Amino acid sequence: MYDITRIKGWPMPVLNELNQPHFDAMGEGKVLVQHCPDCDTWLAPGAFVCENCGSTAITWRQASGRGEIYSYVVMHRSFDPAFEGLVPYNVCLIELEEGPRLLANVVGIANDRLAVGQPVRAVFETAGEGLPLLKFAPA
Ligand code: ZN
Repeated sequence: MYDITRIKGWPMPVLNELNQPHFDAMGEGKVLVQHCPDCDTWLAPGAFVCENCGSTAITWRQASGRGEIYSYVVMHRSFDPAFEGLVPYNVCLIELEEGPRLLANVVGIANDRLAVGQPVRAVFETAGEGLPLLKFAPA
C-alpha cells in the first residue's frame, strides 16, 4: 500500500502550489486551471512551465467547465480499498473547450454509453469528509 493521507478511507490529493488553487476552486463550484499569459495557452493544473512557450509566468484562470470526453476507461477492479464499492466506475480524460485535459469521473450516464466526443459539463460532488470533487456529466 502506498503512503498517502486519507480521510475516512478516501485518499487525499497531495496539495502544493501547482494544484491547490484547482482543488480549492472545486469547493466554490469552479473549474480553475492554469494559463500562460505570454502565449494565451491554457494548461492543466500541475504545470510549472508553459508547455507551449516555456514561460514560467503561469497564472490561474476559471475555465468554462464545458468539454468533451477525449478518452476513457471503465475500472472493473479496484486498486485502492476506497474504491472497492464503486466498481465498475469510469475514469475519463476530459478535454476542456479551452484545451487542457483533466482526469475525472463522468456521472449521470451508464458506463456502456460513454463515448469519445461526448459533450460534458462540470458538476461538483463531495467525497470523504466533505472533499469537493470535480466530475462531469453529459451536457
Ligand atoms: Zn506560453
